[in-house]
Amino acid sequence: MSHARSYELFINGKWRAGSSRATSPVINPATEKVFASVAAATVSDLDEALASAERSRRAWSSRPAKERGDLLVAAAGILAAKVRDAAKDLSEEQGKTFPEATGEYARAVETLEWNGTHAVGLSAPIPLGLNRMIFPEPLGVVAAFTPWNYPAVLIARKLAPALAAGCPVILKGAEETPSAAVHIVEAFRQAGIPDGVVNLVFGVPVQISRHLLSSSIVKVLTFTGSTEVGKQLAALAANNLQRCILELGGHSPVIVCEDADLARAVPAISEYKFECAGQSCNAPSRILVARPLYKEFLSRMTEAARKIKIGLPDDPGTEMGPMANARRIEAMQRLTKDAVERGARIEVGGARLDRPGFYWPPTLLTGVPKDAKVLHDEPFGPILTVAPFDTIEEAIEEANATEYGLAAYFFTGTAEVKRALISGLSAGALSVNYLKGVSADAPYGGVKQSGYGYEGGEQGVRSFQNLKLVNGFAS
Ligand code: NAD
Repeated sequence: MSHARSYELFINGKWRAGSSRATSPVINPATEKVFASVAAATVSDLDEALASAERSRRAWSSRPAKERGDLLVAAAGILAAKVRDAAKDLSEEQGKTFPEATGEYARAVETLEWNGTHAVGLSAPIPLGLNRMIFPEPLGVVAAFTPWNYPAVLIARKLAPALAAGCPVILKGAEETPSAAVHIVEAFRQAGIPDGVVNLVFGVPVQISRHLLSSSIVKVLTFTGSTEVGKQLAALAANNLQRCILELGGHSPVIVCEDADLARAVPAISEYKFECAGQSCNAPSRILVARPLYKEFLSRMTEAARKIKIGLPDDPGTEMGPMANARRIEAMQRLTKDAVERGARIEVGGARLDRPGFYWPPTLLTGVPKDAKVLHDEPFGPILTVAPFDTIEEAIEEANATEYGLAAYFFTGTAEVKRALISGLSAGALSVNYLKGVSADAPYGGVKQSGYGYEGGEQGVRSFQNLKLVNGFAS
């Protein structure tokens, strides 16, 4: 069956089908209908991508950092000019609302710009005292694997720093949401990226990662996705000692302290949690509320969740679209059923909506026993648990009681409590009195089973560099 739209591979500077002509379908999660297809790379396509990336490596790494940076800024401008069309495609294949998709592209553009404007500074030698110098050098060809939840901004956060550092990239985009990768790579093509410096492949993820990581051409692995897959890729990368940056799952707590302003906390949590139908690695999933505020918080949060307007992603009034795929609906059903069987109570939501599309409503669970799966498995959807706490020590212990350590949030105005939470919470990033995710200029990365390495800011570029130390530089 042929589709109106077909997304292709980009290898050695050219858009083309996979050599076997195999494709996979792209589904609109709001209708469950197939509307496009995406090419699948064969081993020979991957070999071609590897060879072209390796051929381009020397010239790209020795190109003045200013020119690399200018190219990133030019690509950002080209992408910015087509955000409306690109966001429409993203919304159609991912299910996020059009404003969410537009916002995501704005952040992708900002990420390309930030890395472009900092390419020179972050490629410059770093003096260490009078007689030592550090020369940042690009590590070489990067294999980048990006997921379907934020396909535009997560690609930008890998591609831009790697290119700024002087590394060619073979990107495997998410097969379920291919348009973001295609729009971004096309912006680079139009900006004049040399052949081989950016390659884009799709296909069977396990085959692609196994083949790319078994090649000694690849020097860096960067992956965003689940902890389980991240571990498999890290194991493959161990054979060639490829440098790894792993941005994995999360199960983020929000601690609402006794002095919190609920008029501020509830809308902030609701807005951040239900963006992208809760499918963000750093979305809050467990809310811990100081007991004196618990009843009031629960009533306001339930009301906020109930009021969220669910609908088609391109309807202007829609505040939350469908989940991205059927796997997420199954996960919501599994987690909710398990919690309820163990004695939890559904305050709002809790069942798939009876309409076409992968729609799951904002769901609040209370009285969730500690062994319920929803408190341990990453929900990655619009489910929140709410529980009271009595002391800050207890809240910290509960907040840290998962294997994940990506983000944590808290609401308090008391300096002493802030200090206790900042030092007590095991997380890569914290936000105080609001909820904030990744930004172009700051490092972001997890601890525990949420991964290692950083994306964003200076550290994001350093992830793709060898810092070559030269002793006796002035001798
Ligand atoms: P998944 O782990 O199978 O896939 C996640 C992503 O990794 C997808 O884009 C997929 O194409 C890719 N992938 C899967 N196997 C791969 C392999 N062997 N080699 C290379 N890439 C591979 O899970 P899923 O069902 O797509 O998503 C569900 C879970 O993934 C969620 O519960 C969540 O934990 C996690 N996830 C996390 C993020 C994040 O931002 N950290 C993003 C998406 C998914």
